[in-house]
Amino acid sequence: MNTPKTKQGKNLEDVLEMNRSLLIRLMRKRQQVCTRAELTQESGLNQSTITNIINELISWGLVVETGVIEGKKGRRSIGIRLNCEPFKVVGIRLARKSITVALYDLGGKEYESKQISIRNLEGSETAFSKMKGLIAEMIEPCKDTVKAIGIATPGPLFRSEGRIALMTEFPGWEKINIHEQLNLEFGLPVYIEHDAKAGALAHWWFSDPHQDHGVMVYVAAGQGVGAGIVMDGKVYRGALGMAGEIGHMSIDYNGPQCECGHKGCLELYCSTTALLKKLNKEHAELPSVWKDLKSGDPVATEAITQAAWFLGFGLVNIVNTFNPDRIIIGDELSDAGDLVLHTIKEVIDNHALPVVSSRLIVEQASLAKDDILVGAATIAIDSLLSQPSTLLR
Ligand SMILES: [Zn+2]
Repeated sequence: MNTPKTKQGKNLEDVLEMNRSLLIRLMRKRQQVCTRAELTQESGLNQSTITNIINELISWGLVVETGVIEGKKGRRSIGIRLNCEPFKVVGIRLARKSITVALYDLGGKEYESKQISIRNLEGSETAFSKMKGLIAEMIEPCKDTVKAIGIATPGPLFRSEGRIALMTEFPGWEKINIHEQLNLEFGLPVYIEHDAKAGALAHWWFSDPHQDHGVMVYVAAGQGVGAGIVMDGKVYRGALGMAGEIGHMSIDYNGPQCECGHKGCLELYCSTTALLKKLNKEHAELPSVWKDLKSGDPVATEAITQAAWFLGFGLVNIVNTFNPDRIIIGDELSDAGDLVLHTIKEVIDNHALPVVSSRLIVEQASLAKDDILVGAATIAIDSLLSQPSTLLR
């Protein structure tokens, strides 16, 4: 999959597509009924452009009129809103021990979700076949409404090549071109993203309070560790799409050997895989560890504090490098609760540049659902909204 060279000029159809995208995004953000006049004011487009585009979107079935609403000074206008239900995407989260597939509409509403367990012993090809089976089951009843597939995977990920570069603890995935194979199998546009970046975008779009500007870092501290960096609403990907691979940032050059070739990588100290190894509970489920923590078990408390402490040190480097205004701690480790958050905050407060850390918010992921799964769908939705005419396919 080669990335096409970006055209420098904009033809009339490109401008129209940009304006459609802008209006749909404005309506999505408001999440309620609005008027053409409000869109004129917010977008800066002239009235006739708004009228033409909204009429077109009504003919697509993407916008519906909701009836007359009374405005200021007795002015009456027709309310309009997005009609997301007929436009669906499939979101997939591939993790080291599970695959989750869910159906969403363009507004991010979830309709159905299914999860299966996978094991590294069965091999990546078998796991990938299971994934395809699950997607087919999800798509079959609503084939005509599904417009795209979004998938979030552990990294490092060669995003531009559509495949994982390395999945620690689960070899073989690097040989599968996930993008190409899913595209061939289902005939739909496929958007692939590193799990932490997907979680980051989901948080930027759906968390409350909503953030419009600034720098947010979302940390996926789960079976691996990664970070997604969102700057003014755009995911920062780096040259190959591998930015944010903090799990493979070394915190001890004499430390244990990592599968990536480096020594002392952060995720060897603070992933949930590392935590379970430390507790000699490699085959246990995490909720049992959180239960031990709740009941005051000193061994679990010590191991979790230590994992959070190491993660905090990794994040000090991120804070000093990117100067974010918000850090969101997400994925499995955040399920441990306040102890993890407090420990991380303490390390950052004591070790990052004071002028930077004093204006930094560190919080736990706040979405009720799995951020990374929602993020997989969000990546697909974001891509569709950038080129709304693809919705007609
Ligand atoms: Zn590593």
